[in-house]
Amino acid sequence: MIWQPLLLTARLKELGVDDLPLFYMNSEDLFARAVELMPGGVNSPVRAFRAVGGTPRFIKSANGAKITDIDGRTYIDYVGSWGPMILGHADAEVVTALAQAATRGTSFGAPNELEVEIAEEIIDAVPSVEMVRMVNSGTEATMSAIRLARGVTGRNKLVKFEGCYHGHGDSLLVKAGSGVATLGLPDSPGVPSSLAESTIIAPFNDPDALEQAFNQHGDIAAVIIEPVVGNMGCVPPQKGYLNAVRELTSRNGALLIFDEVMTGFRVARGGAQELYGVLPDITTLGKIIGGGLPVGAYGANRDLMGHIAPAGPIYQAGTLSGNPLSMTAGLITLKRLRDQSVYKRLEHATAKLCHGLSAAAAEAGINTVTNRVGSMWTSFFNREPVTGWTTANKSDCRLFGRFFHAMLDQGVYLAPSQFEAGFVSLAHDDEIIDRTVTAARKAFKNLGETGKG
Ligand SMILES: *Cc1c(COP(=O)(O)O)cnc(C)c1O
Repeated sequence: MIWQPLLLTARLKELGVDDLPLFYMNSEDLFARAVELMPGGVNSPVRAFRAVGGTPRFIKSANGAKITDIDGRTYIDYVGSWGPMILGHADAEVVTALAQAATRGTSFGAPNELEVEIAEEIIDAVPSVEMVRMVNSGTEATMSAIRLARGVTGRNKLVKFEGCYHGHGDSLLVKAGSGVATLGLPDSPGVPSSLAESTIIAPFNDPDALEQAFNQHGDIAAVIIEPVVGNMGCVPPQKGYLNAVRELTSRNGALLIFDEVMTGFRVARGGAQELYGVLPDITTLGKIIGGGLPVGAYGANRDLMGHIAPAGPIYQAGTLSGNPLSMTAGLITLKRLRDQSVYKRLEHATAKLCHGLSAAAAEAGINTVTNRVGSMWTSFFNREPVTGWTTANKSDCRLFGRFFHAMLDQGVYLAPSQFEAGFVSLAHDDEIIDRTVTAARKAFKNLGETGKG
């Protein structure tokens, strides 16, 4: 298919017309082209508006707390690239440093100084980490962490929790059908059944179910958990739960992996392990530590990390790992987060937002439950406390979809799914929070008036 507007665009460029009128290329047009070229029109499924309907917006630029689409509309952004943008978009210090770093070369495939600096920064911040290996994504981090756990314990099985997401590695794309005793089934075609069978699913916030899993399976290498879940919407651990997980895992000779790809440097500088005072054996990181560039990392004590090649026999490598651009953006971001007052500011802004949203929903007679840990939050369209996948899954996703679009129409960009966390950045000031709450009040009111089904 020849895309006429594209040809015309090229022609106009030839004629020296660069600043095309807005009607010329819009998100609808681009998405129509994208679906012909990429599966579902996107490079990551969560970006498509499948759960809420409509066409995803193509983002042209972002600054501070806001993003602007190619249709020329600006939105207050609560996705923050799904977590990394804790300083806000296009932070001046990050952008300047990146531009300078690029002039010195973008990848060497040899050690560089920034890798040492970021390792020091991560080890200083994250309580259980004494050594770290940089990789290129959160997915790579969790895959590598599991290999480490299997390699060290000589065991094969893995426990993961219903509704937790740890990237798209084979062993991890498995969820429960229902119930404690349910063994893993391949959730995605293409996952070998041998791998799916070695993944055991347990419900989050249920220590007895984990104990039962250990009683039934002797071969468990590791338990992997989002210590604060973000990937079924924000679901905090109940009091004592992480301690129980720690204790059960140690008692059974398995390793505990905290997947802090989302929570690391988010819920506290040292992640959930700092916030709750529970230390895992292995930690995975990503998102914030790359400051918006592709990154991941995994770390543990010296003994465990000593098994990783070339120090030890467990192989894991990466052409672009530790590249100077990701390290530059990450390092500047992490240095700014040394100042503990940033977490107070994030806490204040997000508490204000969540109180505002809850009050606005209540005024309109809409049932919502808002969960929050630090600057991670989700408003569930739900009547009961959301403590795990079973309760999260009772949310009214149709109502959420209508709320999502009502907010989008008023210039507030939320994650296009009920089962995602929202993120507040340091660029979300009082005025932005107030504007969001005002928009929410209107959106909830409309939902209340037009019926809740
Ligand atoms: C985002 C995320 C991942 C995957 O990271 P990618 O960089 O997208 O591969 C893994 N675990 C958790 C908890 C995440 O939030």
